[in-house]
Amino acid sequence: MAAERVEERKARALEVIRRIDAAMPEAKIELDFTTPLELLVAVLLSAQTTDKRVNLVTPALFRDFRTAQDYADTTPQVLEGYLKSVGLFRNKSKALVKLGKALLERHHGQVPTARAALAELPGVGNKTAGVVTIHLDGERAFPVDTHILRLSKRLGFSRHEDPDDVEADLRRLLPEARWFKAHQLIIWHGRRVCDARSPACHRCVVADLCPRRGVPPRKR
Ligand code: SF4
Repeated sequence: MAAERVEERKARALEVIRRIDAAMPEAKIELDFTTPLELLVAVLLSAQTTDKRVNLVTPALFRDFRTAQDYADTTPQVLEGYLKSVGLFRNKSKALVKLGKALLERHHGQVPTARAALAELPGVGNKTAGVVTIHLDGERAFPVDTHILRLSKRLGFSRHEDPDDVEADLRRLLPEARWFKAHQLIIWHGRRVCDARSPACHRCVVADLCPRRGVPPRKR
């Protein structure tokens, strides 16, 4: 098969997003939050945990911890009581106390919207910072989680393993105005159709555009 030219790949990527959008127009972040601080905490908690699991613990957490000061004033042991059903809960409990203190010291208790400022906060990596900034209208970005990483490879959008490199490829491939929606759509498609272990190629709306259609996932 002839190698795909860059312009062809860009057109294919746009069509992939258009079709998933048509099939899943309701795609959006699945974490529950009402404030920037709740968003930041929920995204931080979602590392190596499902959004569903996070949404089970955050109602009580957000009821009792409303401000950066509340997190700064508590202890990891108290937070562990709220978070024990979440993966890595001990580390996350420690991180939330440090996060509260850092927000007070550096940002007057407010959540910054710039990705770089977010990424410097305790427990917040580049991906978490990217997800928060795009939902706060801080910056346009294309943060890469496990679903976007997997689908970018399967769809032939990136050959890289490092999320930052994959993000750079996706930013080159799609117009900036589509990054936010494409980020959400690819995650929904990954969760509902293109599963890590058993991709449902037979009911995939982009199967004819996918180089990995029908190819069993590699065993780890
Ligand atoms: S055809 Fe299969 S591997 Fe390709 S995106 Fe669809 S579900 Fe995933």
